Amino acid sequence: MSNTIYCKQGHLVVPDNPIIPYIEGDGIGQDIWKQAQQVFDCAVEKAYQGRKKVDWLELLAGKKAYDQTGSWLPPETMTSIKQYLVAIKGPLETPVGGGIRSLNVALRQELDLYACQRPVRYFQGIESPLKHPEKTNMVVFRENTEDIYAGIEWEAQTAEVQTLIHFLQTEMKVNQIRFPASSSIGIKPISIEGSKRIIRAAIEYALANDLRRITLVHKGNIQKFTEGGFRKWGYELAQQEYGPYLQSGKLQINDIIADNFFQQALLHPEKFDVIVLTNLNGDYASDALAAQVGGIGISPGANINYETGHAIFEATHGTAPDIAGKNQANPCSLLLSGAMLFSYIGWQEVADRIQKAIETAIANQEMTADLAQACSTRALSTSQFVARLLDYL
Ligand code: ATP
Repeated sequence: MSNTIYCKQGHLVVPDNPIIPYIEGDGIGQDIWKQAQQVFDCAVEKAYQGRKKVDWLELLAGKKAYDQTGSWLPPETMTSIKQYLVAIKGPLETPVGGGIRSLNVALRQELDLYACQRPVRYFQGIESPLKHPEKTNMVVFRENTEDIYAGIEWEAQTAEVQTLIHFLQTEMKVNQIRFPASSSIGIKPISIEGSKRIIRAAIEYALANDLRRITLVHKGNIQKFTEGGFRKWGYELAQQEYGPYLQSGKLQINDIIADNFFQQALLHPEKFDVIVLTNLNGDYASDALAAQVGGIGISPGANINYETGHAIFEATHGTAPDIAGKNQANPCSLLLSGAMLFSYIGWQEVADRIQKAIETAIANQEMTADLAQACSTRALSTSQFVARLLDYL
């Protein structure tokens, strides 16, 4: 049997010895990848006693790639991710100047990874600004390809923006631009297809994980056709494709205006299971929710295309050059992203073991410096922390 994971009619076919590419990452990426890999391999061994094993394949991207090949994102890296379908990566340094604005964005665009999935949960023992952080337990689905992130905008006082404003005023009879002579203009595309595929992904996730409530978070009260469209198409999709689940009560779909969501997420976070948002709202919500459980430094993430099966799991923090090479970095974001990866390929036993080991360590106040300070506990180095996890596994 081949060692390549592939996608057949929307379902992953995973061999017992899959090749899974990884990108170590820059800065602290080099401190955390090797440590994390030990935890992954140990969890797989404990779960399957040698019947299954990952064959990790290093791919180059970022500064390490630039130093070795002269390219920030070598074409072979993209080819391999396309071939092997699922990959995991550490943080990447953003090239200064040159053609690529962000390596992460380039990877997401090339593979059309439209769903950004970020689980938000509390780990007992972490300092949080909330009285009951354990009530926050939800999964964020952020649309990854549309909205203002399309990057369609024109700078104030350029000939281009003047042409556009003239067109809007004369052809489209727009008269609401308050200061036409000095406005920059941006365009926000939100489509039926783009909205429906992220909402479908969120619903499928909810059904697969016995979660009932899907909440569409939007600003449809102000942006009637873009954000309002997202809401409308979400309800339409749920009725068209998931009618029996709605009728049986296995699925509930509701919506909330984004500003009210931020309020409710603080006051009654237990009301939410799976939330789905357009790109910009999703950006704000992911970090705000991670912060309210004290987990901004450890929250994991994945970017997925559920039709092709392509998925990249990633540490959500940056390269942290201030602590790179010092054996101080917290590997939890990468580790929990790895747990998401194992869950995605159906190796749930491995995901559960990784999460349980982290839960135990943090509950025992065993943590790296970034978390230890707030908890007034002695900090462990990256390798000491990982040694504790290996013990718990
Ligand atoms: P980049 O420019 O790549 O985004 P950054 O360091 O500016 O990197 P963040 O990742 O947001 O951006 O990090 C901000 C600070 O938070 C870091 O300088 C570091 O002190 C701390 N930090 C981030 N990630 C970790 C981690 N995994 N473990 C410990 N500290 C971290």
